Amino acid sequence: MQFWLITLILLWPNLCQVQSYGGSRYGGNREQSIRIGLITDDESDHIRQTFEHAIAVVNNDLSVPLQGEVEHVNYGNSLLAFGQLCRLMQSGVGAVFGPSARHTAAHLLTACDAKDIPFVYPHLSWNAQTDGFNLHPHPQDIAHALYDIITQFDWSRFIFCYESSEYLTILDELISLYGIKGPVIKVMRYDLNLNGNYKSVLRRIRKSEDSRIVVVGSTEGVAELLRQAQQVGIMNEDYTYLVGNLDLHTYELEEYKYSEANITGLRMFDPAKKEVRDLLETLHQQMGEDTTQAENPAGATTITLAMALTYDAVRVIAEASKLVPYQPAQLNCSERHDNVQPDGSTFRNYMRSLEILNKTITGRIFFQGNVRKGFSFDVIELQPDGLVKVGTWEEGKDFEFKRPPQVAHFQDNEENSLVNKTFNVLISVPNKPYASLVESINTLIGNSQYEGYGIDLIKELAEKLGFNFTFINGGNDYGSFNKSTNITTGMLKEIVEGRADLAIADLTITSEREEVIDFSLPFMNLGIAILYITPQKAEPALFSFMDPFSKEVWLYLGLAYLGVTLCLFVLGRLSPSEWDNPYPCIEEPEELENQFSINNSLWFTTGALLQQGSEIAPKALSTRTISSIWWFFTLIMVSSYTANLAAFLTIVNPTSSIDNVEDLANNKDEVQYGAKRTGSTRNFFLTSEDPIYMKMNEYMTTHPEMLTETNQDGVKKVKASTKYAFLMESTSIEFNTVRECNLTKIGDALDEKGYGIAMVKNWPYRDKFNNALLELQEQGVLARLKKKWWNEIGAGVCSASSDDSGPSELGMDNLSGIYAVLIVGSILTFIFSILYWCIFVFKKAKFYDVHFTDALVEEFKIVISFSENERILKSAQSVYSRSRNSSSQSIESIETDSEDHTPQH
Ligand code: GLU
Repeated sequence: MQFWLITLILLWPNLCQVQSYGGSRYGGNREQSIRIGLITDDESDHIRQTFEHAIAVVNNDLSVPLQGEVEHVNYGNSLLAFGQLCRLMQSGVGAVFGPSARHTAAHLLTACDAKDIPFVYPHLSWNAQTDGFNLHPHPQDIAHALYDIITQFDWSRFIFCYESSEYLTILDELISLYGIKGPVIKVMRYDLNLNGNYKSVLRRIRKSEDSRIVVVGSTEGVAELLRQAQQVGIMNEDYTYLVGNLDLHTYELEEYKYSEANITGLRMFDPAKKEVRDLLETLHQQMGEDTTQAENPAGATTITLAMALTYDAVRVIAEASKLVPYQPAQLNCSERHDNVQPDGSTFRNYMRSLEILNKTITGRIFFQGNVRKGFSFDVIELQPDGLVKVGTWEEGKDFEFKRPPQVAHFQDNEENSLVNKTFNVLISVPNKPYASLVESINTLIGNSQYEGYGIDLIKELAEKLGFNFTFINGGNDYGSFNKSTNITTGMLKEIVEGRADLAIADLTITSEREEVIDFSLPFMNLGIAILYITPQKAEPALFSFMDPFSKEVWLYLGLAYLGVTLCLFVLGRLSPSEWDNPYPCIEEPEELENQFSINNSLWFTTGALLQQGSEIAPKALSTRTISSIWWFFTLIMVSSYTANLAAFLTIVNPTSSIDNVEDLANNKDEVQYGAKRTGSTRNFFLTSEDPIYMKMNEYMTTHPEMLTETNQDGVKKVKASTKYAFLMESTSIEFNTVRECNLTKIGDALDEKGYGIAMVKNWPYRDKFNNALLELQEQGVLARLKKKWWNEIGAGVCSASSDDSGPSELGMDNLSGIYAVLIVGSILTFIFSILYWCIFVFKKAKFYDVHFTDALVEEFKIVISFSENERILKSAQSVYSRSRNSSSQSIESIETDSEDHTPQH
């Protein structure tokens, strides 16, 4: 019993510790623990998890455990952070870990300094003297490491690319390390806060002679810069990047792995270390993920330097607490209370005087003054396997690369193999269907943002040959070579000057270009043709019923009609049998009458022409003969007319202003024309010796406004005007005419040529490339791609057009002329009839000696009495009865002579 009592007394403190650890949040109870606070603005929450994990780990060998208190704050919210700090102080916190936001951290540091509370800042700080307790290597030490690596690289010049002015501390140190001798350093700034677009800086780098770049900046800034460098096409074997950010191992580097660009950087810890793996396991457990990643050192690099330093700082506090008893007091953060942490500064001094060799993530920790020293960097390099350690940098020791032996991944020992080579491929964007931007709601980067025939073709070739590629937008100008001035332009220039290896577009193989670059075998054949607006069906003319006969036929028909009428008239008079007794009852008449008067002759031929006949019957042989011939003639004419009429009324032939290149050269119908300003089409006319093409060249030279920068502009111009034609390559014309129904190709191709993939002159891989291209052709891949981009994607719009060949009803448009004839004929008839009626009334009035208006009124009454179809010749009531009653016979003859309204007496 006594034994148990003594044992209980001895174990009591430990039991208490265990109880308080279990009962508190992350550590022991208040009385027997050291509280440390974390104010974090880390959205991922990994800093908090690391902090808790580190406390749990260090508490395993602490007699007075640490107890963590965590406060979250929005990035940059200094006021809230200060409030949280006050709360922590009131709870008796012995050390505070600050947030990443630099200004907030500075604010909290001042408050902590005033209260003698150690302040831990686990991020890069520019002034170690004033930035609290900082385990991050000082920028000057980073500069030392960069200096040693650059010296190993033996660079004679490089670009120093920095994000913001603080990073110039590194440059400053580099320059002072070089002294008066040293490489040429070009300094360029990029700034995420300006607009996040570094491409102009990167393009300047691409155009400059430098290809070695030291990049310093924030983790996000450097990551973005590398991403954009790939887009600009400077992430390839020609470029070397030395990254001064210690978080390179956390980057998404998959995209750059095969780019052959040399990316070198620094890392403060080995991801295979036990502490790292334990931490990762805890993180993954907390996130509910599987922990296999922790066993894979290459993949387990999601621990940022800030997390590692947080972990190590907790270790430092733990070690210091072993050396000096620390009982943090509860403080009031208000200024009026000048109470401070009694042992705060002593504890901080102990923290700085420590030398810790193990159980940390970032290795050895000791301080010289306020600056951490004695650490080492892994120098890491990006290889197809991922990041590989190629050396260790330690202060004061000579640095040397110790690259592990390379493992060949793709066993292709053939000469000039393209396997794993990376090429910069120029494309022209947007230039459908060869290359265009993928339409997506997500922001695409790198090669994934482009699509098109050219893109697919390069992918097919890359699959066959095993090479990698980076697409670069080379603009609209495919380029030319001027022999006399030796000047190359556009994409040609990029290839000649080695900034790109290949170019794929609707790039025509020309002898001029072949002088400075090489082309692959042609992958598509084409010729120059004319793109023009589809001829519109003309509106039917008013007198379209006249169309079945030409004007001459109508003219001769009219003449024939008059001629036959005249013949009939003459023959009638010549033929004795045409002279008849007008009154058959009188056996021996005193006069004979001929039926073929001019009027009757006209009526007879008209009746025959209109297939209606008349009562006039020719009797003489001659008149019958001519009548028969006329009938036969009209039969053929009318049949021909009828046969042709339907076709003419229904089929309206579209008419085009231009039908061939000659029409264009002559500006027929004032049609103007142009071509792409910098293309091979324009060049064709510039160099041609054919008189027509020379004439066209002259026109285009004197009308530069007719030329366009791109084929797309040309197409737009054609669509906008009916008087503009665009000289374009047949393949591109075909692409557009399938999609734009109002566009058409006019005439045949003017020449024959092909598109090829441009490549550096004497490119060693040309033969392999050509073989692969031939294989693609033989396997039908080229045809499939052509079909896909020409006839499938976006096509089929015009096939649904209403060009049906079946019969269609005739509309008023077709027949309005006939109606017009009817209306005009009827009106004329009325006019004639009224005219003759007036003459008749006038004569009648004169005959009866009555006033014209009286006669007119009288006659009008008769006309409008529509119910009466008979008229009384001698009416007693009529105006005429008051005057010449005796002349009734003559009046009758006036009234009954309706044929010609001539009084017969
Ligand atoms: N294929 C032409 C060239 O290679 C561009 C288009 C054109 O000129 O019609 O330049």
